[in-house]
Amino acid sequence: MATNDYHFETGIYRPPSEGGSASLLVRFTRNCPWNYCTFCSMYKTEKFQLRPLKEIKSDINAMAALVDDLTSESSRLGKNDQITQAGIQSLLSRSPALNYHPGADMLIQWLLFGGKTAFIQDGNSMIMPPQDLIQALIHLKTTFPSINRITTYARARTIAQRTPEDLQAIREAGLDRLHLGLESGDDQLLKQIKKGVDAQGHITGGQKAIAAGFQVSEYWMPGLGGKEMTEQHALNTARVLNEINPHYIRSRPFRPIADTPIYEQVRTGEMTLLTPTEQLQELKLMVSALNVTSKVCFDHAGNHWRTPKGDLVFSHDYEGYQFPNDKNKVLARIDEGLTYGL
Ligand code: SF4
Repeated sequence: MATNDYHFETGIYRPPSEGGSASLLVRFTRNCPWNYCTFCSMYKTEKFQLRPLKEIKSDINAMAALVDDLTSESSRLGKNDQITQAGIQSLLSRSPALNYHPGADMLIQWLLFGGKTAFIQDGNSMIMPPQDLIQALIHLKTTFPSINRITTYARARTIAQRTPEDLQAIREAGLDRLHLGLESGDDQLLKQIKKGVDAQGHITGGQKAIAAGFQVSEYWMPGLGGKEMTEQHALNTARVLNEINPHYIRSRPFRPIADTPIYEQVRTGEMTLLTPTEQLQELKLMVSALNVTSKVCFDHAGNHWRTPKGDLVFSHDYEGYQFPNDKNKVLARIDEGLTYGL
């Protein structure tokens, strides 16, 4: 057995769908290189850092060493090449420091779920020099051949700045899916929340990613414009999503987080929050204007609305509703939700 402290970093954030599939979390950069969005608290106290390729490879090698030791320990206790609970417990008692390792449990869960998917952390991996990103992806795939899907967060503006050749090379190196924070397609609102990209930038970034072969997952925030901008937010978001036609559209209803600039805007009355019914009305307007072949997903607890019967208006499934076939079904569910409390 290797004498190893299994040193590798694990960041905090990943999309819920990557938790559901128990993805291996591999940290290629630290925090967010933009960090100005007024609603976001994720990396606010932290400084962005690119990690040297050597360091990323060393993390992947340390993960591989832990996988090897878990496999040998399980084999020693009777199951050839299969990770077992007995093997895990035995290694934990032989290397007690593992009980306090910030990434060991994540890696074990990933193995127990079959070791199939990986998520690259943190906030915008596409900011890496393309050749470093490509080399890191190749090392990850070569080290863990069982991985059949790699995804990451990315910013549309950074994608728009990359050449089609670089994007295609990154895709071919193994990055399959990009999670993009659209938030809104309305220019006035995008400026107000300091997203650092306008509607056209979102469209260019999304379209370039799809042309390079990535699966694109766009996140939007119902209610982000408050009562003041609800209609323009809904209609312009639908317009931009129609232009991109991403593989996934994911709803992340807005709620102000303490200590963010937008929280102060709400507190001082500069912005008026939508009521739950008004949020659903905004959703109805946006969904009605959607003309896409995307999967539309409500895979987050923030999509909390219920019908008068008490069941959730939307399924929280990661694969969501297939548009355009399910569009009328979604609209009918929204109408049911809108009757709640009437
Ligand atoms: S780009 Fe994403 S992670 Fe960075 S500040 Fe904006 S919402 Fe937060």
